[in-house]
Amino acid sequence: MSTNVFSPKHPSDPSGAALLRAVRAIEMDASVTEEVEACPDAVGEILLDEAARLNSIGKTQEAVVVLDALIHHAPLVDDRQYAAIQKLDHLRGEDGQVSAEAERVVAQLLQPSILQEGPAHLLGEALEEFGDLESALTCFNVASRKYLSGPAEDLEDAHLMLAFELAGRTRVRKQLGYAPDDFDIALNEISGPDRSLTRGMRGSGEGLDGSVFDDRDFDGVEPPLHNPGTGKALRVVCRREEFETAREQGVVKDTGADPGSDGGADAYFRYVERGLREQARLNPEVVWYLVRFSVEEIEDYAHRSGGDPGDDELQAEWGEVVPPDDHRASVWPPERNDPCWCGSKRKYKKCCGSAANR
Ligand SMILES: [Zn+2]
Repeated sequence: MSTNVFSPKHPSDPSGAALLRAVRAIEMDASVTEEVEACPDAVGEILLDEAARLNSIGKTQEAVVVLDALIHHAPLVDDRQYAAIQKLDHLRGEDGQVSAEAERVVAQLLQPSILQEGPAHLLGEALEEFGDLESALTCFNVASRKYLSGPAEDLEDAHLMLAFELAGRTRVRKQLGYAPDDFDIALNEISGPDRSLTRGMRGSGEGLDGSVFDDRDFDGVEPPLHNPGTGKALRVVCRREEFETAREQGVVKDTGADPGSDGGADAYFRYVERGLREQARLNPEVVWYLVRFSVEEIEDYAHRSGGDPGDDELQAEWGEVVPPDDHRASVWPPERNDPCWCGSKRKYKKCCGSAANR
């Protein structure tokens, strides 16, 4: 077992020095190297993000080099596992055939007491897609451990709605033809048998009817939403195509980028997604609407109302007049297989909704 690099007991350099050495040997964007030097404790997370970014722009070889460095040297077991699971995407041929290396990695991850809960969720989704349902179920069971440890009736609906790993478990159990257990039944009850097959929480196109909250307290100093059961909230974001312009003109001020790094649109949208998930955890009753603006629209509105186009309150005010069925608005989170809300043209589950975005 000691040879299993994914084991929590695998000896790794906890200072991260070995990983930093490996990173320095890789040719990488100066902004990433600077970010790593500035926040050495977050080196694993920074490099996982960078690998995902490289992959999304077609630099798959470079992505694999970063992932290999993580697999062998990341101090945190979760990061080693996340990296290996991200790499699985590269180990699949055009025909979807799973390579021998991928099989070996999955077998190592699936050894008893190896897989951590977060990576288990991600691996479950990957294996479900490969069609390896039995192994996917093993993963979802690990990922859902915190829910499965008590009786199903103790789980509140609001928590069930956000238990995406538990929904994955139910989905796979159904595909395997298992009779519904208490957890499957509880999930089906809150969302209907079809809904549980997708993601949990879903607004069904209710109108905003004026009861909109803005996101001025978005940074979580204080939960801004106090309307359990009927809450609707609004998050105004920039259109992807205009992110650079919006940042340059100060229309988007909080890009989620670490100081000194050159965060682009992907980093911004992943940051928005993480904020929404955090808000959804704090206030699970609230249905979130995303409204996307163009720089021109916001600047026009600011001009008319005499405010600052970069002001959060002004943007929220603008968003409130956008009808929920407008093409600029959508309910968050989208369905797993729907296009991502960020406009990347990738599936939500492969983009901002990926379990790797945490
Ligand atoms: Zn996205």
